[in-house]
Amino acid sequence: MSKHILIVDDSKTVRNLVAFIMKKEGFRVTTAEDGLDGLEKLYGAGQVDLVVSDINMPRMDGLTFIKALREQDAYRDLPIVVLSTEGEEHDIDSAITIGANIYMVKPAQPEKLMRNVKMLLG
Ligand SMILES: [Mg+2]
Repeated sequence: MSKHILIVDDSKTVRNLVAFIMKKEGFRVTTAEDGLDGLEKLYGAGQVDLVVSDINMPRMDGLTFIKALREQDAYRDLPIVVLSTEGEEHDIDSAITIGANIYMVKPAQPEKLMRNVKMLLG
């Protein structure tokens, strides 16, 4: 069974691009438009192996989304890659502190994103 990736970003362009990169690698993909949608999709999707999440989103931002995941036993160890336009040290620090595994600044090189995803998937 191929790995299942949840992509959470309010930009359709980014969702489509990341989905394209993941599908090309043979992964299954589910997309969500914001953190709230991400939670709903996650609860309804069955097994998700890794999350790629934006930070700045309406309704529920990425930090709140990640925090909500980490508070639940089922998602405590779920690998999370943040993909954000914000590249300041305090942005990175807060995301990592909350529980993101890797923080990448947009635009991220597809090869680098894939390398990180594969590393986290082991
Ligand atoms: Mg955004």
